[in-house]
Order: sequence, then structure tokens, then C-alpha cells
Amino acid sequence: MKRITIILIAVLMLMTGCATTKPRTENEKLNVYITTYPLYDFTMKIAGDCINATQIIPTGVDAHEYEPSPHLMAELERSDVFVFNGGGLEAWAERVEDSLSNEGVLVVNTGEGIAKNNDPHIWLSPVRAKQQAEKIYKALIKDDPENADYYTENYKALEKRFDDLDRKYRETLSKATYRDIITTHAAFAYLCEDYDLNQVSITGVSPGSEPSPGRMAEIIKFIKDNNIGYVFFEPLTTPRLADTIANETGIEKLVLDPVEGLTDEQKARGEDYFSLMEENLENLKKALVK
Ligand SMILES: [Zn+2]
Repeated sequence: MKRITIILIAVLMLMTGCATTKPRTENEKLNVYITTYPLYDFTMKIAGDCINATQIIPTGVDAHEYEPSPHLMAELERSDVFVFNGGGLEAWAERVEDSLSNEGVLVVNTGEGIAKNNDPHIWLSPVRAKQQAEKIYKALIKDDPENADYYTENYKALEKRFDDLDRKYRETLSKATYRDIITTHAAFAYLCEDYDLNQVSITGVSPGSEPSPGRMAEIIKFIKDNNIGYVFFEPLTTPRLADTIANETGIEKLVLDPVEGLTDEQKARGEDYFSLMEENLENLKKALVK
């Protein structure tokens, strides 16, 4: 009986471990470079310690404004897989494939065929984020077939998490009595499309832009005309604009996180894409479901 248990445990360990045939040294692992935090999180959930993963755009740096260094380009030449978001978020990344002399680098544009209207924020729709993760998964099994079973098992689990998250959003927001959300930058169009909400953003698709005084007046009028109770702000950028709106109208502020990176506090708390999306849903519920 004991022996059977030991064998069972050994089989289970083989099934859940990386590199089923032989353990790999750091040098033998795939070197995967990923531009943004959400894609890094998805990649790690699929590949874990099977790969050497590098998140290119550091936390706290605006992904919309990031420019690569010559050092990074040299590292990409030596990489195996390069994963980026696309849809105009990292314009430089869309040129990487042409500029690399190493044709062995597998370049994955996760937004290809998904992003539209020059809006890169596809990961904020769980349904579309799943499609991005699927592209990463396919690239990993192509470049590292030896670990395909491990990647497949992890991807299946990840797929289920996206489906569960989507179902939660659908169930909760189907009960919404308000449908308008006031956001800082226009990051939530895909999410609004999926769950029948209406985004009214203070700035544009990139958070770096400044609204005109006319735009601020329009938003304040919209809030008063439509009896809006909350203005959303983002953890990684200054709440200055949301503060102004809240002060002018007397409404409350709530976080709606575009999950473009983790703050130090979020990192320390062990947050990830899914926990932040759950918190977003809680705040949307507070603002919209009465
Ligand atoms: Zn953004």
C-alpha cells in the first residue's frame, strides 16, 4: 500500500513538474522577454520555472511612453521568444521583428487580430486576455515541445480562471442600474463593450495627455446630468484629475485599475491580474449596482 502511494506521488510530481525528461540548467531554459505586466503574469502562470522570463517595462513606468534602450535590443537578439501587447501600446515592439538579425527569435504580437481602434487595452477584457494568453501558450509549445504537457496543463487551468472571471463580471454587471463609468484614461473600452457599460474618460487612450478645460466642464456636466456617484482613478498615476472632478461635483472616488503594472504595495500583497480584476469588479459593483 505504501509503495503504491509513493509511486502515485512520484507520478503526480512528474505530471506537475517542469522538464519531465531531464532537469534543465538555467542556460538550457527558454529566454522569454515580455513587454508588459499582465502578459508577464499570464506567461508565468503557463510556464512557471520552465523558462527564464523577463518583464521589459518596469513597474511604475508608463507602458504607453516606454522606449527601449540599445542594451535591451542586444538582449532581444539573444532571446528565444519576444512577447508584446500590440494595438499601438509599444509602437517600438511592432518594429522589433524587422530590426532583429537573429531570425530564431519567435515574435508574438498578442494583440494581432484582437486590438482595434488603435486601443491596446485588450487585457482588461477577460475574454480577450484569454486569447492573448493562448497566443503565448502556442508560442511556448512550439519553441519548447519537450515541456508541452506541462504548458498545456497550466494553460487549461488559466483558461478556466479567465472563464470564471468573465462569468463573474457578466453575472454582477447584468444587475447594474447605472451603466456609465467616469475613468481617468480611456483604458476600459473593451471591458465596457463586453459587459454593456459606457466609458466616459477624462483623458484619451494614453494617460500622459492633458484634458482641455472644455473637456473637464463636459465631464462635470455629464456627472450632474446623469446622477453619477463615483469617479474612478488609477493606482499608478496621479489622482489629480479625479480629485478635481470629485471636488467640483462632490462625488466619491474609487479605484479602477488598468493593470498596466503593480505598485510596490500591490506586489508586497502578492496581487496579480486576477486579484486586481476582482477588486475592479467589487468597485464597479459599488458604483453601478444599487
Ligand atoms: Zn493605458
